[in-house]
Amino acid sequence: MEKEILIFGHKNPDTDSICSSIVKQRLNESDGKNNTEAVRLGKVNKETQYVLDYLKIEAPRLIEKVEEGQKVIMIDHNEFNQSVDGIEKAKIIGVVDHHRIANFQTSEPLYYTAKPYGCTSTILFKEYKSKGIEIGKEEAVLMASAIISDTLLLKSPTTTKHDKNALKELGEIANIDINQYGMEMLKAGTDLSEFSAEELIELDAKSLDKDGTKFVIAQVNTASIDDVLEREAEIKNAINKKIQQEGLKLFVFVITDILNSNSEIIALGERASIIPKAFGKELENDKALLEGVVSRKKQILPNIDKNI
Ligand code: MG
Ligand code: MG
Ligand code: MG
Repeated sequence: MEKEILIFGHKNPDTDSICSSIVKQRLNESDGKNNTEAVRLGKVNKETQYVLDYLKIEAPRLIEKVEEGQKVIMIDHNEFNQSVDGIEKAKIIGVVDHHRIANFQTSEPLYYTAKPYGCTSTILFKEYKSKGIEIGKEEAVLMASAIISDTLLLKSPTTTKHDKNALKELGEIANIDINQYGMEMLKAGTDLSEFSAEELIELDAKSLDKDGTKFVIAQVNTASIDDVLEREAEIKNAINKKIQQEGLKLFVFVITDILNSNSEIIALGERASIIPKAFGKELENDKALLEGVVSRKKQILPNIDKNI
């Protein structure tokens, strides 16, 4: 049965978007609120599927748009251009997020929880604590998975002490070896073999807008940058097509080596000329290796946003 309030993360959902939406629904239920349903805005990626299979639970229902006046809670995002179609006319009841706030407005008051933590699930973990609600094993696995995903097993510079403490406690509740489980989960997400180049550049793509200048930063995780670059020509074609179709000024495709914590970027579009200024590195064949860079939100987006 359809519930009154829908809970969802961003388009091209990642593990945080899916797991935190499920957890938020369960947290509400434990708190006596049975009128919310976690849904999703896109395909479940392989990393997230690993988590769902581990727990033997179903993915939330897929939705493509919302009707005017639909009550919603936004998880792991706030920018309308990353959200469901129709979000402008939805009734936003709440937001739980750990990103910058941009391209967002409401006509009515709302519950908005923003923390600069490494993961939305860390915010939810604290909500459990502050409400004195016990965390079940499944919820612990869901939140731990989201934290592992967003912080790359606490190695990303987005990691805060709040994430570390939460993950430690969640690992104990779930009774899992965080490093072993986490590595398996992250590796599941690096299997990119069966995706077409078009799919690859969409898997974890974020649409951004700076005063009408549209750009995209997409990211994939891998254990070998070279493996991904074997398909460089094909990937560039797909990106150029996307730039044309959507009138983008820049498309940055970030290939992140999760073992060595580096990223190679492919930057295309009219504004690719800002890359040297943004990162202090020239593009060679539209590419640059950014050492020690793994976080889109903290290490890539701010530098691009400032210069575009
Ligand atoms: Mg996310
Ligand atoms: Mg997140
Ligand atoms: Mg991410």
